[in-house]
Amino acid sequence: MEKQQQRVYKAHCLVFTYPSQGHINPLLQFSKLLDRKGVKVTLVTTRYIYKTMYRGSSCTALDTISLETISDGYDEEGWKTLGISVQAYLDSFRKAGSQTLAELLQKLSCSGCPVDCLVYDAFMPWPLDIAKKFGIPGAVFFTQSCAVDNIYNHVNKGLLKLPLTDSEISLPGMPPLEPSDLPSFLSDYGSYPAFFELVIGQFCNVDKADWVLCNTFYELEEQVVDWMAKFWPVKTIGPTIPSKYLDNRLEDDKDYGVNLFKSDSDACMKWLNQHPKNSVAYISFGSAARLGQEQMEELALGLKMSKGKFLWVVRESEAAKVPENFIEETTEKGLVVSWCSQLEVLAHEAVGCFITHCGWNSTLESLSLGVPLVGIPQWTDQSTNAKYIRDVWKIGIKAQPDEEGIVRRAEVEHCISEIMEGHRGKELRKNAMKWKDLAQKAVDEGGSSDKNIDEFIETLIKR
Ligand code: UDP
Repeated sequence: MEKQQQRVYKAHCLVFTYPSQGHINPLLQFSKLLDRKGVKVTLVTTRYIYKTMYRGSSCTALDTISLETISDGYDEEGWKTLGISVQAYLDSFRKAGSQTLAELLQKLSCSGCPVDCLVYDAFMPWPLDIAKKFGIPGAVFFTQSCAVDNIYNHVNKGLLKLPLTDSEISLPGMPPLEPSDLPSFLSDYGSYPAFFELVIGQFCNVDKADWVLCNTFYELEEQVVDWMAKFWPVKTIGPTIPSKYLDNRLEDDKDYGVNLFKSDSDACMKWLNQHPKNSVAYISFGSAARLGQEQMEELALGLKMSKGKFLWVVRESEAAKVPENFIEETTEKGLVVSWCSQLEVLAHEAVGCFITHCGWNSTLESLSLGVPLVGIPQWTDQSTNAKYIRDVWKIGIKAQPDEEGIVRRAEVEHCISEIMEGHRGKELRKNAMKWKDLAQKAVDEGGSSDKNIDEFIETLIKR
Protein backbone atom coordinates (compact mmCIF):
# COMPACT_ATOMS: atom_id res chain seq x y z
CA MET A 1 0.00 0.00 0.00
CA GLU A 2 2.77 2.38 1.00
CA LYS A 3 4.65 1.68 -2.24
CA GLN A 4 1.53 2.39 -4.27
CA GLN A 5 1.11 5.83 -2.77
CA GLN A 6 4.72 6.80 -3.36
CA ARG A 7 4.74 5.85 -7.04
CA VAL A 8 3.62 8.09 -9.84
CA TYR A 9 1.95 5.99 -12.48
CA LYS A 10 1.84 6.52 -16.22
CA ALA A 11 -1.68 5.09 -16.54
CA HIS A 12 -4.10 2.74 -14.81
CA CYS A 13 -5.14 -0.57 -16.40
CA LEU A 14 -7.91 -2.77 -15.14
CA VAL A 15 -6.97 -6.35 -16.06
CA PHE A 16 -9.93 -8.72 -16.09
CA THR A 17 -9.27 -12.47 -16.12
CA TYR A 18 -11.42 -15.45 -17.01
CA PRO A 19 -11.61 -17.53 -13.82
CA SER A 20 -9.38 -20.51 -14.55
CA GLN A 21 -5.71 -21.22 -13.85
CA GLY A 22 -4.63 -21.19 -17.50
CA HIS A 23 -6.14 -17.71 -17.93
CA ILE A 24 -5.22 -16.13 -14.62
CA ASN A 25 -1.53 -17.02 -15.04
CA PRO A 26 -0.82 -15.11 -18.29
CA LEU A 27 -2.95 -12.09 -17.36
CA LEU A 28 -1.38 -11.86 -13.92
CA GLN A 29 2.09 -12.10 -15.40
CA PHE A 30 1.27 -9.43 -17.98
CA SER A 31 0.05 -7.27 -15.08
CA LYS A 32 3.45 -7.61 -13.42
CA LEU A 33 5.15 -6.49 -16.63
CA LEU A 34 2.90 -3.42 -16.89
CA ASP A 35 3.56 -2.65 -13.24
CA ARG A 36 7.33 -2.86 -13.83
CA LYS A 37 6.97 -0.36 -16.63
CA GLY A 38 5.16 2.14 -14.42
CA VAL A 39 1.52 1.34 -15.14
CA LYS A 40 -0.81 0.93 -12.20
CA VAL A 41 -2.68 -2.36 -12.45
CA THR A 42 -5.85 -3.49 -10.78
CA LEU A 43 -6.44 -7.18 -11.38
CA VAL A 44 -10.05 -8.32 -11.40
CA THR A 45 -11.26 -11.80 -10.72
CA THR A 46 -14.44 -13.39 -9.40
CA ARG A 47 -15.36 -13.34 -5.72
CA TYR A 48 -15.32 -17.12 -5.57
CA ILE A 49 -11.81 -17.38 -7.04
CA TYR A 50 -10.59 -14.67 -4.69
CA LYS A 51 -11.95 -16.60 -1.72
CA THR A 52 -10.48 -19.94 -2.70
CA MET A 53 -7.13 -19.11 -4.30
CA TYR A 54 -3.71 -19.75 -2.73
CA ARG A 55 -1.23 -16.92 -2.94
CA GLY A 56 2.32 -17.87 -3.87
CA SER A 57 5.65 -16.13 -4.08
CA SER A 58 6.92 -13.11 -2.29
CA CYS A 59 7.39 -11.37 -5.64
CA THR A 60 7.51 -7.65 -5.00
CA ALA A 61 5.48 -6.82 -8.12
CA LEU A 62 2.50 -8.60 -6.60
CA ASP A 63 2.54 -6.21 -3.62
CA THR A 64 1.76 -3.28 -5.87
CA ILE A 65 -0.97 -4.90 -7.95
CA SER A 66 -4.39 -4.22 -6.45
CA LEU A 67 -6.97 -6.97 -6.49
CA GLU A 68 -10.68 -6.35 -6.99
CA THR A 69 -13.53 -8.77 -7.43
CA ILE A 70 -16.72 -8.97 -9.40
CA SER A 71 -19.51 -11.54 -9.31
CA ASP A 72 -20.14 -14.42 -11.69
CA GLY A 73 -23.36 -15.21 -9.86
CA TYR A 74 -21.74 -17.97 -7.80
CA ASP A 75 -19.93 -16.13 -5.04
CA GLU A 76 -20.39 -18.63 -2.21
CA GLU A 77 -19.93 -21.97 -3.90
CA GLY A 78 -18.21 -22.61 -7.25
CA TRP A 79 -20.37 -23.44 -10.25
CA LYS A 80 -18.49 -26.68 -10.83
CA THR A 81 -19.19 -27.90 -7.29
CA LEU A 82 -22.84 -27.06 -7.78
CA GLY A 83 -22.98 -29.02 -11.02
CA ILE A 84 -24.15 -26.01 -13.08
CA SER A 85 -23.97 -26.47 -16.88
CA VAL A 86 -21.30 -24.56 -18.78
CA GLN A 87 -23.94 -22.59 -20.69
CA ALA A 88 -25.84 -21.63 -17.53
CA TYR A 89 -22.57 -20.56 -15.93
CA LEU A 90 -21.49 -18.43 -18.88
CA ASP A 91 -24.92 -16.75 -18.99
CA SER A 92 -24.75 -16.02 -15.30
CA PHE A 93 -21.17 -14.74 -15.59
CA ARG A 94 -22.16 -12.35 -18.36
CA LYS A 95 -25.19 -11.04 -16.46
CA ALA A 96 -23.73 -10.68 -12.96
CA GLY A 97 -20.28 -9.83 -14.36
CA SER A 98 -21.52 -6.97 -16.55
CA GLN A 99 -23.34 -5.39 -13.67
CA THR A 100 -20.59 -5.72 -11.09
CA LEU A 101 -17.83 -4.74 -13.54
CA ALA A 102 -19.75 -1.54 -14.31
CA GLU A 103 -20.11 -0.90 -10.56
CA LEU A 104 -16.38 -1.41 -10.11
CA LEU A 105 -15.53 1.01 -12.93
CA GLN A 106 -17.91 3.52 -11.40
CA LYS A 107 -16.28 3.13 -7.99
CA LEU A 108 -12.77 3.53 -9.42
CA SER A 109 -13.77 6.57 -11.49
CA CYS A 110 -14.61 8.36 -8.23
CA SER A 111 -11.49 7.09 -6.45
CA GLY A 112 -8.96 9.61 -7.67
CA CYS A 113 -7.33 6.92 -9.79
CA PRO A 114 -9.73 6.34 -12.68
CA VAL A 115 -9.16 3.54 -15.16
CA ASP A 116 -7.46 4.43 -18.47
CA CYS A 117 -7.77 1.05 -20.18
CA LEU A 118 -9.58 -2.24 -19.70
CA VAL A 119 -7.51 -5.30 -20.57
CA TYR A 120 -9.91 -8.23 -20.79
CA ASP A 121 -9.59 -11.93 -21.52
CA ALA A 122 -10.82 -12.77 -25.02
CA PHE A 123 -12.96 -15.60 -23.62
CA MET A 124 -15.33 -12.83 -22.47
CA PRO A 125 -16.03 -10.30 -25.23
CA TRP A 126 -18.71 -8.42 -23.25
CA PRO A 127 -16.40 -6.27 -21.06
CA LEU A 128 -15.54 -4.24 -24.18
CA ASP A 129 -19.11 -2.88 -24.36
CA ILE A 130 -18.88 -1.82 -20.73
CA ALA A 131 -15.51 -0.14 -21.26
CA LYS A 132 -16.92 1.79 -24.24
CA LYS A 133 -19.89 2.95 -22.17
CA PHE A 134 -17.41 4.44 -19.71
CA GLY A 135 -15.42 5.99 -22.57
CA ILE A 136 -12.43 3.74 -21.79
CA PRO A 137 -10.39 1.97 -24.51
CA GLY A 138 -10.26 -1.81 -24.46
CA ALA A 139 -7.40 -4.24 -25.08
CA VAL A 140 -8.47 -7.79 -25.75
CA PHE A 141 -5.99 -10.39 -24.43
CA PHE A 142 -5.82 -13.72 -26.25
CA THR A 143 -4.52 -16.50 -24.04
CA GLN A 144 -4.21 -19.11 -26.80
CA SER A 145 -1.81 -19.33 -29.73
CA CYS A 146 -2.25 -17.08 -32.76
CA ALA A 147 -2.55 -20.22 -34.90
CA VAL A 148 -5.58 -21.28 -32.87
CA ASP A 149 -7.01 -17.73 -32.90
CA ASN A 150 -6.64 -17.64 -36.68
CA ILE A 151 -8.53 -20.92 -37.06
CA TYR A 152 -11.42 -19.76 -34.84
CA ASN A 153 -11.56 -16.43 -36.62
CA HIS A 154 -11.98 -18.22 -39.94
CA VAL A 155 -14.90 -20.16 -38.47
CA ASN A 156 -16.43 -16.98 -37.09
CA LYS A 157 -16.22 -15.34 -40.49
CA GLY A 158 -17.76 -18.38 -42.20
CA LEU A 159 -14.55 -18.98 -44.15
CA LEU A 160 -14.01 -22.39 -42.58
CA LYS A 161 -17.23 -24.36 -42.80
CA LEU A 162 -18.37 -26.90 -40.23
CA PRO A 163 -18.68 -29.81 -40.01
CA LEU A 164 -15.31 -30.22 -41.71
CA THR A 165 -15.44 -32.07 -45.01
CA ASP A 166 -11.92 -31.67 -46.49
CA SER A 167 -9.06 -33.95 -45.54
CA GLU A 168 -6.61 -31.05 -45.69
CA ILE A 169 -7.26 -27.56 -44.38
CA SER A 170 -5.27 -24.62 -45.75
CA LEU A 171 -5.35 -21.35 -43.88
CA PRO A 172 -3.17 -18.29 -44.41
CA GLY A 173 0.05 -18.17 -42.41
CA MET A 174 -0.26 -21.82 -41.40
CA PRO A 175 1.02 -25.21 -42.58
CA PRO A 176 -1.54 -27.60 -44.14
CA LEU A 177 -3.59 -29.16 -41.36
CA GLU A 178 -5.48 -32.42 -41.05
CA PRO A 179 -8.90 -32.26 -39.37
CA SER A 180 -7.43 -33.93 -36.28
CA ASP A 181 -4.91 -31.06 -35.95
CA LEU A 182 -7.75 -28.60 -35.46
CA PRO A 183 -9.17 -27.72 -32.03
CA SER A 184 -11.53 -30.44 -30.78
CA PHE A 185 -14.55 -28.12 -30.85
CA LEU A 186 -14.17 -28.11 -34.65
CA SER A 187 -12.83 -31.60 -35.43
CA ASP A 188 -15.43 -33.10 -33.08
CA TYR A 189 -18.10 -30.58 -34.00
CA GLY A 190 -21.00 -30.55 -31.54
CA SER A 191 -18.97 -32.14 -28.72
CA TYR A 192 -19.13 -29.08 -26.42
CA PRO A 193 -21.60 -26.56 -27.87
CA ALA A 194 -21.23 -24.02 -25.04
CA PHE A 195 -17.42 -23.99 -25.31
CA PHE A 196 -17.68 -23.84 -29.09
CA GLU A 197 -19.78 -20.67 -28.77
CA LEU A 198 -17.29 -19.32 -26.26
CA VAL A 199 -14.18 -19.76 -28.42
CA ILE A 200 -15.84 -18.50 -31.61
CA GLY A 201 -17.51 -15.65 -29.68
CA GLN A 202 -14.02 -14.30 -28.93
CA PHE A 203 -14.10 -12.75 -32.39
CA CYS A 204 -17.57 -11.19 -32.34
CA ASN A 205 -16.32 -7.69 -31.48
CA VAL A 206 -12.56 -7.95 -31.88
CA ASP A 207 -12.72 -5.35 -34.69
CA LYS A 208 -13.78 -2.79 -32.10
CA ALA A 209 -10.94 -3.49 -29.66
CA ASP A 210 -8.28 -0.80 -29.47
CA TRP A 211 -5.45 -3.33 -29.06
CA VAL A 212 -5.22 -7.07 -29.65
CA LEU A 213 -2.70 -8.53 -27.22
CA CYS A 214 -1.52 -12.11 -27.77
CA ASN A 215 0.37 -14.34 -25.38
CA THR A 216 2.93 -15.55 -27.89
CA PHE A 217 6.07 -14.04 -29.39
CA TYR A 218 6.58 -12.83 -32.91
CA GLU A 219 9.42 -15.20 -33.82
CA LEU A 220 7.35 -18.21 -32.76
CA GLU A 221 4.35 -17.51 -34.99
CA GLU A 222 5.71 -14.99 -37.46
CA GLN A 223 3.57 -15.81 -40.49
CA VAL A 224 0.26 -16.10 -38.73
CA VAL A 225 0.94 -12.96 -36.70
CA ASP A 226 1.75 -11.04 -39.90
CA TRP A 227 -1.52 -12.28 -41.37
CA MET A 228 -3.62 -11.25 -38.34
CA ALA A 229 -1.87 -7.89 -38.16
CA LYS A 230 -3.38 -7.03 -41.55
CA PHE A 231 -6.78 -6.72 -39.83
CA TRP A 232 -6.17 -5.90 -36.19
CA PRO A 233 -3.73 -3.92 -34.06
CA VAL A 234 -1.99 -7.14 -32.96
CA LYS A 235 0.74 -7.00 -30.35
CA THR A 236 2.54 -10.17 -29.32
CA ILE A 237 3.58 -9.71 -25.70
CA GLY A 238 4.62 -13.18 -24.53
CA PRO A 239 5.62 -15.57 -23.36
CA THR A 240 4.18 -14.35 -20.08
CA ILE A 241 6.40 -16.51 -17.89
CA PRO A 242 7.71 -15.44 -14.47
CA SER A 243 10.81 -13.38 -14.95
CA LYS A 244 13.26 -15.71 -13.19
CA TYR A 245 12.97 -18.20 -16.05
CA LEU A 246 13.43 -15.74 -18.89
CA ASP A 247 14.89 -12.27 -18.48
CA ASN A 248 15.36 -12.11 -14.71
CA ARG A 249 14.38 -8.45 -14.68
CA LEU A 250 11.68 -8.72 -11.99
CA GLU A 251 12.90 -9.25 -8.47
CA ASP A 252 11.96 -12.64 -6.88
CA ASP A 253 9.55 -13.43 -9.69
CA LYS A 254 9.64 -17.21 -9.69
CA ASP A 255 5.97 -18.15 -9.84
CA TYR A 256 2.79 -16.62 -11.15
CA GLY A 257 1.55 -15.92 -7.66
CA VAL A 258 -1.98 -17.31 -7.64
CA ASN A 259 -2.80 -21.03 -7.44
CA LEU A 260 -6.25 -22.51 -7.58
CA PHE A 261 -4.82 -25.80 -6.29
CA LYS A 262 -2.64 -26.47 -3.26
CA SER A 263 0.89 -27.21 -4.33
CA ASP A 264 3.45 -29.54 -2.81
CA SER A 265 6.53 -27.88 -4.16
CA ASP A 266 9.00 -28.77 -1.43
CA ALA A 267 8.34 -32.49 -1.79
CA CYS A 268 8.86 -32.25 -5.55
CA MET A 269 12.11 -30.33 -5.27
CA LYS A 270 13.48 -32.63 -2.60
CA TRP A 271 12.66 -35.64 -4.75
CA LEU A 272 14.04 -34.11 -7.97
CA ASN A 273 17.27 -33.15 -6.18
CA GLN A 274 18.00 -36.84 -5.72
CA HIS A 275 18.03 -37.53 -9.44
CA PRO A 276 20.64 -36.93 -12.12
CA LYS A 277 20.33 -34.59 -15.08
CA ASN A 278 17.63 -35.37 -17.68
CA SER A 279 16.57 -38.58 -15.91
CA VAL A 280 12.96 -37.77 -14.94
CA ALA A 281 9.81 -37.57 -17.07
CA TYR A 282 7.40 -34.92 -15.77
CA ILE A 283 3.71 -35.59 -16.48
CA SER A 284 0.85 -33.14 -16.11
CA PHE A 285 -2.44 -32.53 -17.90
CA GLY A 286 -3.00 -29.02 -16.56
CA SER A 287 -5.86 -27.69 -14.52
CA ALA A 288 -8.93 -28.83 -16.41
CA ALA A 289 -8.45 -31.93 -18.62
CA ARG A 290 -10.11 -35.10 -17.34
CA LEU A 291 -8.72 -38.38 -18.54
CA GLY A 292 -10.95 -41.41 -18.98
CA GLN A 293 -10.47 -44.30 -16.56
CA GLU A 294 -8.88 -46.51 -19.21
CA GLN A 295 -6.53 -43.78 -20.43
CA MET A 296 -5.42 -43.12 -16.88
CA GLU A 297 -4.66 -46.80 -16.33
CA GLU A 298 -2.73 -47.11 -19.59
CA LEU A 299 -0.71 -44.02 -18.76
CA ALA A 300 0.07 -45.33 -15.27
CA LEU A 301 1.17 -48.71 -16.60
CA GLY A 302 3.26 -47.06 -19.32
CA LEU A 303 5.07 -45.01 -16.68
CA LYS A 304 5.63 -48.15 -14.63
CA MET A 305 7.06 -50.00 -17.65
CA SER A 306 9.34 -47.13 -18.71
CA LYS A 307 13.03 -47.29 -17.84
CA GLY A 308 13.34 -43.90 -16.16
CA LYS A 309 11.83 -42.09 -13.20
CA PHE A 310 8.67 -40.02 -13.27
CA LEU A 311 7.00 -37.12 -11.47
CA TRP A 312 3.27 -37.22 -12.15
CA VAL A 313 0.71 -34.54 -11.25
CA VAL A 314 -2.70 -36.07 -10.63
CA ARG A 315 -5.21 -33.50 -9.45
CA GLU A 316 -7.32 -34.55 -6.47
CA SER A 317 -10.41 -34.82 -8.66
CA GLU A 318 -8.56 -37.38 -10.86
CA ALA A 319 -6.93 -39.41 -8.09
CA ALA A 320 -9.57 -42.15 -7.92
CA LYS A 321 -8.66 -43.19 -11.48
CA VAL A 322 -5.07 -44.12 -10.60
CA PRO A 323 -4.83 -47.95 -10.49
CA GLU A 324 -5.00 -49.49 -7.06
CA ASN A 325 -1.60 -49.92 -5.37
CA PHE A 326 0.13 -48.05 -8.21
CA ILE A 327 1.68 -45.51 -5.85
CA GLU A 328 2.92 -48.15 -3.40
CA GLU A 329 4.30 -50.28 -6.22
CA THR A 330 6.21 -47.42 -7.82
CA THR A 331 7.70 -45.60 -4.82
CA GLU A 332 11.22 -46.45 -6.03
CA LYS A 333 10.52 -45.07 -9.45
CA GLY A 334 8.16 -42.20 -9.18
CA LEU A 335 6.42 -39.49 -7.23
CA VAL A 336 2.73 -38.62 -7.62
CA VAL A 337 1.60 -35.20 -6.38
CA SER A 338 -1.71 -33.35 -6.66
CA TRP A 339 -0.21 -30.06 -7.88
CA CYS A 340 3.27 -28.56 -8.12
CA SER A 341 5.06 -25.42 -9.09
CA GLN A 342 5.32 -26.47 -12.73
CA LEU A 343 7.91 -23.87 -13.67
CA GLU A 344 10.20 -24.86 -10.83
CA VAL A 345 9.86 -28.48 -11.91
CA LEU A 346 10.49 -27.78 -15.60
CA ALA A 347 13.51 -25.67 -14.68
CA HIS A 348 15.04 -28.49 -12.62
CA GLU A 349 17.95 -30.16 -14.38
CA ALA A 350 16.68 -33.65 -13.47
CA VAL A 351 13.65 -33.20 -15.74
CA GLY A 352 14.34 -34.63 -19.18
CA CYS A 353 10.92 -34.39 -20.82
CA PHE A 354 7.38 -33.15 -20.27
CA ILE A 355 4.46 -35.47 -21.03
CA THR A 356 1.69 -32.96 -21.49
CA HIS A 357 -1.86 -32.29 -22.65
CA CYS A 358 -0.33 -29.40 -24.66
CA GLY A 359 -2.22 -26.58 -22.94
CA TRP A 360 -0.91 -23.30 -24.31
CA ASN A 361 0.72 -22.17 -21.05
CA SER A 362 2.38 -25.55 -20.56
CA THR A 363 3.63 -25.45 -24.15
CA LEU A 364 5.11 -21.97 -23.75
CA GLU A 365 6.62 -22.85 -20.39
CA SER A 366 8.32 -25.99 -21.69
CA LEU A 367 9.57 -24.20 -24.77
CA SER A 368 10.87 -21.28 -22.70
CA LEU A 369 12.75 -23.68 -20.45
CA GLY A 370 14.12 -25.81 -23.27
CA VAL A 371 12.37 -29.03 -22.21
CA PRO A 372 11.25 -31.39 -25.03
CA LEU A 373 7.65 -32.56 -24.97
CA VAL A 374 5.54 -35.65 -25.51
CA GLY A 375 2.09 -34.47 -26.52
CA ILE A 376 -1.03 -36.34 -25.46
CA PRO A 377 -3.64 -33.73 -26.40
CA GLN A 378 -7.08 -34.18 -24.88
CA TRP A 379 -9.44 -31.49 -26.13
CA THR A 380 -9.90 -27.78 -27.00
CA ASP A 381 -6.80 -26.16 -28.61
CA GLN A 382 -4.40 -28.92 -27.54
CA SER A 383 -4.29 -30.86 -30.84
CA THR A 384 -3.26 -27.74 -32.73
CA ASN A 385 -0.54 -27.02 -30.18
CA ALA A 386 0.64 -30.64 -30.47
CA LYS A 387 0.83 -30.29 -34.27
CA TYR A 388 3.05 -27.20 -33.95
CA ILE A 389 5.18 -28.82 -31.23
CA ARG A 390 5.94 -31.79 -33.47
CA ASP A 391 5.97 -30.40 -37.01
CA VAL A 392 6.62 -26.67 -36.86
CA TRP A 393 8.86 -25.99 -33.88
CA LYS A 394 10.14 -29.58 -33.74
CA ILE A 395 10.49 -29.60 -29.97
CA GLY A 396 8.59 -32.77 -29.25
CA ILE A 397 6.68 -35.80 -30.41
CA LYS A 398 3.02 -36.74 -30.29
CA ALA A 399 1.87 -40.01 -28.77
CA GLN A 400 -0.21 -42.04 -31.19
CA PRO A 401 -3.62 -43.09 -29.87
CA ASP A 402 -5.19 -46.38 -31.03
CA GLU A 403 -8.49 -46.62 -32.93
CA GLU A 404 -10.38 -46.11 -29.66
CA GLY A 405 -8.53 -42.85 -29.11
CA ILE A 406 -6.46 -44.23 -26.23
CA VAL A 407 -2.71 -43.89 -25.93
CA ARG A 408 -1.72 -47.37 -24.78
CA ARG A 409 0.96 -48.27 -22.22
CA ALA A 410 3.42 -49.51 -24.88
CA GLU A 411 3.12 -46.19 -26.73
CA VAL A 412 3.72 -44.26 -23.50
CA GLU A 413 6.85 -46.33 -22.83
CA HIS A 414 8.01 -45.96 -26.44
CA CYS A 415 7.56 -42.16 -26.42
CA ILE A 416 9.49 -41.80 -23.17
CA SER A 417 12.40 -43.85 -24.42
CA GLU A 418 12.41 -42.04 -27.77
CA ILE A 419 12.63 -38.62 -26.16
CA MET A 420 14.87 -39.45 -23.20
CA GLU A 421 17.37 -41.63 -25.02
CA GLY A 422 19.09 -41.66 -28.35
CA HIS A 423 19.47 -39.39 -31.33
CA ARG A 424 15.88 -38.12 -31.71
CA GLY A 425 15.73 -36.92 -28.14
CA LYS A 426 19.01 -35.04 -28.55
CA GLU A 427 17.72 -33.27 -31.68
CA LEU A 428 14.50 -32.25 -29.96
CA ARG A 429 16.37 -30.97 -26.94
CA LYS A 430 18.66 -28.95 -29.19
CA ASN A 431 15.65 -27.38 -30.92
CA ALA A 432 13.98 -26.70 -27.60
CA MET A 433 17.13 -24.87 -26.46
CA LYS A 434 17.06 -22.79 -29.64
CA TRP A 435 13.45 -21.72 -28.91
CA LYS A 436 14.33 -21.04 -25.30
CA ASP A 437 16.94 -18.61 -26.52
CA LEU A 438 14.48 -16.90 -28.88
CA ALA A 439 11.81 -16.65 -26.17
CA GLN A 440 14.34 -15.02 -23.90
CA LYS A 441 15.37 -12.54 -26.59
CA ALA A 442 11.72 -11.63 -27.25
CA VAL A 443 11.14 -10.54 -23.66
CA ASP A 444 14.56 -9.02 -23.07
CA GLU A 445 14.93 -5.26 -23.26
CA GLY A 446 14.30 -4.21 -26.86
CA GLY A 447 13.07 -7.69 -27.87
CA SER A 448 9.90 -8.03 -29.97
CA SER A 449 7.51 -8.56 -27.04
CA ASP A 450 9.20 -6.00 -24.82
CA LYS A 451 8.94 -3.37 -27.58
CA ASN A 452 5.28 -4.21 -28.13
CA ILE A 453 4.47 -3.70 -24.46
CA ASP A 454 6.27 -0.34 -24.57
CA GLU A 455 4.29 0.64 -27.66
CA PHE A 456 1.05 -0.41 -26.03
CA ILE A 457 1.81 1.81 -23.04
CA GLU A 458 2.92 4.74 -25.22
CA THR A 459 -0.25 4.67 -27.33
CA LEU A 460 -2.32 4.33 -24.18
CA ILE A 461 -0.73 7.39 -22.61
CA LYS A 462 -1.25 9.44 -25.79
CA ARG A 463 -5.01 8.83 -25.76
N1 UDP B 1 0.36 -25.79 -13.45
C1 UDP B 1 0.98 -25.73 -12.23
N2 UDP B 1 1.13 -26.88 -11.52
C2 UDP B 1 0.71 -28.08 -11.95
C3 UDP B 1 0.09 -28.14 -13.22
C4 UDP B 1 -0.05 -26.98 -13.94
O1 UDP B 1 1.40 -24.66 -11.77
O2 UDP B 1 0.87 -29.06 -11.23
C5 UDP B 1 0.19 -24.53 -14.22
C6 UDP B 1 1.06 -24.50 -15.44
O3 UDP B 1 2.34 -23.98 -15.11
C7 UDP B 1 0.28 -23.60 -16.39
C8 UDP B 1 -1.17 -23.80 -15.95
O4 UDP B 1 -1.14 -24.44 -14.69
O5 UDP B 1 0.66 -22.26 -16.24
C9 UDP B 1 -1.96 -24.69 -16.89
O6 UDP B 1 -2.22 -23.99 -18.06
P1 UDP B 1 -2.32 -24.72 -19.46
O7 UDP B 1 -2.65 -23.68 -20.46
O8 UDP B 1 -1.10 -25.50 -19.73
O9 UDP B 1 -3.48 -25.76 -19.31
P2 UDP B 1 -5.00 -25.65 -18.76
O10 UDP B 1 -4.94 -25.86 -17.31
O11 UDP B 1 -5.52 -24.28 -19.14
O12 UDP B 1 -5.67 -26.77 -19.49
